[in-house]
Amino acid sequence: MAKEIVVSGIRPTGNLHLGNYMGAVTNFVKMQYDYTCYFFIADYHSLTTHPNPADLHNNVRQVLIEYLACGLNPDACTLYIQSDLPQIPELYMMLNMHAYKGELERVASFKEKARTQPDNLNAGLLTYPVLMAADILIHKAGKVPVGKDQEQHLEMARTFGNRFNRIYEKEIFPEPYAFNYGNNLIKIPGLQGGSKMSKSDGDANVISLINTPEQIRKKMSKAVTETGPLMVDSIPSEAVQNLFNLMKIVSTDEKLSHYTKAYANCSIRYGDLKKDIAEDLINFLSPIREKITLLQADNKLLAKVVKQGREKAQESAANTLKECREVIGFKSFL
Ligand code: ATP
Ligand code: MG
Repeated sequence: MAKEIVVSGIRPTGNLHLGNYMGAVTNFVKMQYDYTCYFFIADYHSLTTHPNPADLHNNVRQVLIEYLACGLNPDACTLYIQSDLPQIPELYMMLNMHAYKGELERVASFKEKARTQPDNLNAGLLTYPVLMAADILIHKAGKVPVGKDQEQHLEMARTFGNRFNRIYEKEIFPEPYAFNYGNNLIKIPGLQGGSKMSKSDGDANVISLINTPEQIRKKMSKAVTETGPLMVDSIPSEAVQNLFNLMKIVSTDEKLSHYTKAYANCSIRYGDLKKDIAEDLINFLSPIREKITLLQADNKLLAKVVKQGREKAQESAANTLKECREVIGFKSFL
């Protein structure tokens, strides 16, 4: 039986951080050996925030390097750059004809942008879930490894795919679902008390894969905590719970239980907790950072990976698009 198809991508809007790694990339690395996987660098998506043209290529290059350093194997998966596939914007356009303003305006990420950046509420932001649906549907994926923040976008992708199938009376697209090996989708907290580590929340909020030990120690020392606990067995604030959650990922169970008990009996010292997390993060991330440094100089390898990925991804995308054009009614005069 053919292996199930998987698609996912990350926007080149900054260096990958621990959230991207735990929510998305660790799954990519495992899935590439179990499924037919398409992983990409979402440079079209990054255009919603108008990146400086002089920086765009380097941003893409950096994510490519970081993907490889995390363990993506271009012989096991198809690793490509989104803008190398003209089929994606074509499918996006087709899907847009059946995507409605009302449903797009109700998407949580759009409402959030409307609140935080009312001066740049462009049509690309409004139709972001349609482009994401095109990314997924172009390869007919059933599984999409993403963090918890993407759940609603996946629901939209199912809506748009099902709608297209129904309108053109052909089951072209399967239903894509968010996927994580641990079953529950992951959300890594930020360091400044925010519930989600995110590139756009500023550097102090994130631990990047390229951060040096000194940077990690400094960021952790500034991570937000609380003045309590004031009573035995009180419930940790969001900021402290965030630190415990980080600890669950990078530290041993013994350490976590030590600090959980110390919190419960009010003997916890946040300085020690943060130092411990910093050291464990450094050990956790060092091998990746070393690989990133090695790959920086390997232009030949990067060019080979991109070419190989483009060819494989275009083949799959062209097949799907051919079907879409047929059912829509486009016919050749020749
Ligand atoms: P931006 O702030 O520009 O939106 P981001 O840091 O949220 O950037 P994205 O490029 O939006 O990163 O997300 C890429 C992938 O990483 C998605 O699958 C997303 O679900 C996942 N991801 C991002 N942040 C986290 C997080 N804190 N925890 C778990 N997964 C995350
Ligand atoms: Mg995001």
